[in-house]
Amino acid sequence: MPQHTPIWSRILASPLLALLLAVVLTASSASTPVVAQGDRLQVMVSFSVLADVVRNVAGDAADVETLIPLGANPHSYEPSAQDVVRLSTADAVFIIGLNFEERLQKVVYEAAEGTVYELWGCLPIRPVLAGLSHEHEGEDEHAEDEQVSATPAGGPGIAGSSLDTLCADHWATVRAAFGLDDLRTPGAVTRDDAEYLEVLGMADPHVWTDPVNVALWTLMIRDMLSAEDPAHADVYAANAAAYVGQLTALHADLSAQFAALPAERRYLVTNHESFSYLAARYGLTVVGVVLPGGGTASEPSVQELLTLIETVRQYDVPAVFTETTVSDSLAQQIAEETGAKLIQLYTGSLSQAGGPTDTYLNYMRYNAAQIVQALQ
Ligand SMILES: [Zn+2]
Repeated sequence: MPQHTPIWSRILASPLLALLLAVVLTASSASTPVVAQGDRLQVMVSFSVLADVVRNVAGDAADVETLIPLGANPHSYEPSAQDVVRLSTADAVFIIGLNFEERLQKVVYEAAEGTVYELWGCLPIRPVLAGLSHEHEGEDEHAEDEQVSATPAGGPGIAGSSLDTLCADHWATVRAAFGLDDLRTPGAVTRDDAEYLEVLGMADPHVWTDPVNVALWTLMIRDMLSAEDPAHADVYAANAAAYVGQLTALHADLSAQFAALPAERRYLVTNHESFSYLAARYGLTVVGVVLPGGGTASEPSVQELLTLIETVRQYDVPAVFTETTVSDSLAQQIAEETGAKLIQLYTGSLSQAGGPTDTYLNYMRYNAAQIVQALQ
């Protein structure tokens, strides 16, 4: 499909329909495998964190390449001419979506010859700034609970659709694996609302800072790889099951670490809004971000900076968390004004191989340890 009509592009842009497409491919794959015998599935993934998860599911059965180089900021990365060629030769392309890859997403849909998969169709999405409104404090608490509990217990979605069934299966698997009654955190919205937020550019794309979401990713990736390469479906299923097991161990570790933090030490200020999913899962609150708007392109006004300085003082926040992929010059000013420490985390990229965060599991353990140590 070298030439997409605008409508077809929009259809492919929908994660719901991309997933449905995966279902259709699975149904028709018995007679016409997508990958010819002897060829390994070639998968292109937008950024390193997602690529590591895809690699864990793919194992040795497929070749997984990362488009955005290590250390680059995925929000602002501009694809090169060579990237366009790499996209066009991949059998499948995996992206976060929700406008995470701000400069890349459009090029992916224009250049990719294979199927493009966005990885959020089954996830409980959070709005940008959900953690900043303090809705869980005081009177709004009950209104929010009602909103959350109004969705079906099986998962997000549209009753009766194939995707609804698919997501409900994934939610049931992850609920059982993690021992959770519900996968949603306070403030997460239904899928219908997530699609609306996506259009508005108000959906928080940093879903992977919650291991529960990565377990859902793992099951979705398993299905997507199996749709592209049904001959290795058993391999993908076994790898996915093993990786979900590692994610549950990660979740147990993180739960124990964050549980040790006293209530008055559970306030986060980060360089941009990249840890709201982690905060919601482990009982922390993001009380401020240096760069507003969910990405890294916006600078705060003087008033916003002054407000943030007040917030750091009000909550007695001991550390402002910066990141390896984005400038910390404004965070430095806040630290100088307030006496807070600057602690660098990994957000938009894993480290080089052999570094402290060269896998998703190491990335989460490293960041969690830094946060707990800085706040306790
Ligand atoms: Zn980000």
